[in-house]
Amino acid sequence: MKWSIPVGEFRGIKVYIHWTFLLLLTWIGFSSYRVAKSTEQVWLSLGYIISLFACVVLHEFGHALTARRYGIKTKDITLFPMGGMARMEKMPESPGAEFVVAIAGPLVNVVIAGLLFLYMYFSPTLYRLGFPTGAMTAEQFLPSLFLVNVIMAVFNLIPAFPMDGGRILRALLSLKFERAKATAIAANLGQFIAIGFILLGLFYNIWLVFIGIFIYLGAGAEASQEYVQRDLSAHTVAHLLMTKFTVLKSNDALGAALRALLDSQEREFLVAENEQITGVLTRDEMLAGLSQFGQNVQIGKIMRRDIRFLPPQMPVTEALQIMTALNIPMLPVGYPGQLLGVIDIENISEYLLIQKAMR
Ligand SMILES: [Zn+2]
Repeated sequence: MKWSIPVGEFRGIKVYIHWTFLLLLTWIGFSSYRVAKSTEQVWLSLGYIISLFACVVLHEFGHALTARRYGIKTKDITLFPMGGMARMEKMPESPGAEFVVAIAGPLVNVVIAGLLFLYMYFSPTLYRLGFPTGAMTAEQFLPSLFLVNVIMAVFNLIPAFPMDGGRILRALLSLKFERAKATAIAANLGQFIAIGFILLGLFYNIWLVFIGIFIYLGAGAEASQEYVQRDLSAHTVAHLLMTKFTVLKSNDALGAALRALLDSQEREFLVAENEQITGVLTRDEMLAGLSQFGQNVQIGKIMRRDIRFLPPQMPVTEALQIMTALNIPMLPVGYPGQLLGVIDIENISEYLLIQKAMR
């Protein structure tokens, strides 16, 4: 994630703070400093912020470590003002796993709240529930932390993407409906709730408007991603391969490639060396090569050689993953020595547009 500051690592999962979260912390720190009457209150406010931060991190580790039990790795955890985000390799596919992974986060907050409650209940000190109106005091520290954890649990259980409650709802709906359909229902409900938040927010609290917009966008993204996944996983590379394409020779000059680029709709070209496909020349390489070496440079010198042949029976989702990982928009289909066609990102996205229009 861009603009994030690393703060630590646990069990191979790195934790980052997004700069917007840091902004919020600074703001809370600064405003509590202004109302604080003693250095003790300033320290208490800082301690409170760090405890809040720790609760969000623990919530995310609840998801991450549960997901690990299902063999899903988490790349990292980033903290945003709206909460944390654990970036998992993939989402759990079975409804059962999704349910357990999604509920693990809010459960962490329930456990923290429960422990704080027990401690306050049996402690000789008399605690009063509520948030401080001015600076943080020692008596208000634990009740505030307790309340925040209750709020975190309840807020995350709102049945709307991208909240945990949205995933829990989808997992439950998946028992009855196909996954893309379950996602669509959960996403629609999420957007409905989001609009409710926005309307309420306009009258009561501007924060609700932000939260509403956040949920609205998240729900839409989740639904379309799920449809994309479904449309693509039903097809193999052989379905989408193109058979009309130009092959350039590696000892041709770049000028020849530029003419081919201008003459046709193609933007990337396969390159052959001794009758074998050994590279791909993309528009980016052509432009970079032109400014660096001029148009007489041999194509073989500037083409991408780190390519792979995609077998025709490979699912399109997998092909897309490989193309994204290699950061290359086109790859040959077939096997070394046996070229069947090419597949490119533009082609895949056109196919997705057609599928979307037919829904
Ligand atoms: Zn969560």
